[in-house]
Amino acid sequence: MSQRIWLSSPHLGEEETAFVEDAFKTNWIAPLGPHVDGFERELAAYVGVGHAAAVSSGTAAIHLALILLGVKAGDTVFCSSLTFVGSSNPILYCNAQPVFIDSQPESWNMCPQALERAFEWARREGRMPRCVILVNLYGQSADMDAIVAICERYGVPVLEDAAESLGATYKGRASGSFGRIGIFSFNGNKIITTSGGGMLVADDEALVVRARKLSTQAREPAAHYEHTEIGFNYRMSNVLAGIGRGQLRVLDDRVAKRRQVFETYRNALAGSAIEWMPEPAGMRSTRWLSCFTLPGGDLARRQAELLQFLERHSIEARPVWKPMHLQPLYRGAPFFAHESGDVAARLFESGICLPSGSNLTDDQQARVIEQLRRALAQVGA
Ligand SMILES: *Cc1c(COP(=O)(O)O)cnc(C)c1O
Repeated sequence: MSQRIWLSSPHLGEEETAFVEDAFKTNWIAPLGPHVDGFERELAAYVGVGHAAAVSSGTAAIHLALILLGVKAGDTVFCSSLTFVGSSNPILYCNAQPVFIDSQPESWNMCPQALERAFEWARREGRMPRCVILVNLYGQSADMDAIVAICERYGVPVLEDAAESLGATYKGRASGSFGRIGIFSFNGNKIITTSGGGMLVADDEALVVRARKLSTQAREPAAHYEHTEIGFNYRMSNVLAGIGRGQLRVLDDRVAKRRQVFETYRNALAGSAIEWMPEPAGMRSTRWLSCFTLPGGDLARRQAELLQFLERHSIEARPVWKPMHLQPLYRGAPFFAHESGDVAARLFESGICLPSGSNLTDDQQARVIEQLRRALAQVGA
């Protein structure tokens, strides 16, 4: 049996251990410390946003962002449907009500027309959302100009979920810098990792200062631990921030390598009828995951067959995210589809994510390509 090939596994560089050793040597093991400050400063500079707060996960960053944007029990929050559940679970933590927005085929991300229709509905119903959680899927930005313009017209802030798109750009500007608040994830499978962690970014310093406070049990500045509001234990530790600083130094290499992995797949399978996730003009994806859709019908069966074929050869591939409006957890939540029908459901049925790690070797990728060719032939694509 050959060695398993993972979808996206951690890829450490050479400087992370030096940062971690420094944390040990200086005894900055407990939460907070110089690496947390350094990681925040360096990440904010990288994405061109004023301020950043390092936290324990991307999900925690979204939860804090919702609170900062004033989301309360019973409020409506719009969210991209085609995403990982970490995007939308914080809506439920706030006892707010999600409304899901479909994707557009052009970017697989939030469809501006569907968003517009959701806003018209919300106005009629008296349910204007407190914010819009806008996801950048698989390393690819959403249609920022159109979506930000619509949200501005309705006076509703954007929370940009850039968990999967650190290092991507939209018209030259960094992904994660478009919302009132942006968030990133450093989970083990993301483009860079701290083993687990997240970051909240904003130009508004007051928001970020408040995020730091809420993430450390909302302690008031008093020696005796005074509390006037609910806080959380969401701060990133100094050790993990050290790993993050090392990872940030190799981020551009990681993006280049993931894009190269994607190009290699696309060139090798140029004869096939499969369709690769598009990269619209003006957008530079990180290709965090290399994704394609199967052509033709009977998709659910053929997708499952293809994934089973790869699994038998110890290759970890996955379907595209199951959209949130199809999840039992969110049954009954309103959903606004693309004018052509449910695009997110079609992508889920037909979409496959391939092993895409920046540490994928040439030999491993050749093995994936060889088995994928055979699998595609078997399912008639
Ligand atoms: C990974 C991810 C999250 C959550 O990040 P964690 O660090 O795992 O909590 C949120 N949104 C999207 C789109 C993600 O891919």
